[in-house]
Amino acid sequence: MLPFEYDRATDVEQAVRLGAQAGARYIGGGTNLLDLYKSGIERPARLVDVSRLPLNTIEALPDGGVRIGAMASNTAAANHALVRERCPLLAEALLAGASAQLRNMATVGGNLLQRTRCHYFTDPALGACNKRTPGSGCAARDGFNRIHAILGGSESCIAVHPSDMAVALCALDAVVRVRSQSGEREIPVNDFHRLPGDTPHIDTTLRPGELITAIDVPAVAFGTRSHYLKVRDRASYAFALVSVAAAIDVHDGMVREVCIALGGVAHKPWRAREAEDALRGKEFSEDNLRAAAALALAQARPQEHNRYKVELARRVIVRALRIAGDMA
Ligand code: SF4
Repeated sequence: MLPFEYDRATDVEQAVRLGAQAGARYIGGGTNLLDLYKSGIERPARLVDVSRLPLNTIEALPDGGVRIGAMASNTAAANHALVRERCPLLAEALLAGASAQLRNMATVGGNLLQRTRCHYFTDPALGACNKRTPGSGCAARDGFNRIHAILGGSESCIAVHPSDMAVALCALDAVVRVRSQSGEREIPVNDFHRLPGDTPHIDTTLRPGELITAIDVPAVAFGTRSHYLKVRDRASYAFALVSVAAAIDVHDGMVREVCIALGGVAHKPWRAREAEDALRGKEFSEDNLRAAAALALAQARPQEHNRYKVELARRVIVRALRIAGDMA
């Protein structure tokens, strides 16, 4: 076991001061970090325990949105009346993730920071991994890449982001609130996770020492006509092969507004803006849904073992929109 320093922060100011130290990592529920620590992939010199911080409230925002404290558990967020009423898409996505036991432990802030479940990343015995050891290579490119990215990948990495929650937040244009010794800032969820490029070891745009304090989910007028559809290898406790978070506003058979995000296809939750643009103002018809889904996957670059994801993603987009728009 690798030795590390442990501090339990009692307020946010203390947490960000401790978190600014070299080698420090924040720990909330620990459901991902401790797994990676035990297998030697994460080697924090110092853990700053933020689980006792008063950041677990869920409250209404004046504009009709919801602010979810970063330390709220996934279970608390999914079952909270405000979340279920104002952003059911988010509640659905949260309940599609992990197991009940994990959702009870995992925090909303930590959910955003989950690392990929690429087998070559989580098991060093399987081969080289640029995300684990920068510059070492990517065993997945010529290896077994059934679960990997079809959009936004690079020569260095084709891993996918594992969070369900983040896909819904991406569709809903949520904002991540962070705090450091320099003060506060807001990061749109769409800009929070990175594409791999040639630095796949950097998952997010968080700066060193920054602590997630809350997530603001704005009011989406048509947010109740939504659906999160997740396709996975087994019915529970499995990561998405492909998932889609969709909300759509249909009036007199025409699409007035729509938002679509995909999970399981890229290094970050993937917003399908071309598909949204193609549907806006069009008839809510099967043909138009299929055309929009085809556009969403037009730039797909599948690997040897994951070609199935392209057609699967098209179908999941159509199905999710049909359910959200009450066509199913
Ligand atoms: Fe590592 Fe990314 Fe390649 Fe997986 S896909 S082995 S995480 S570099």
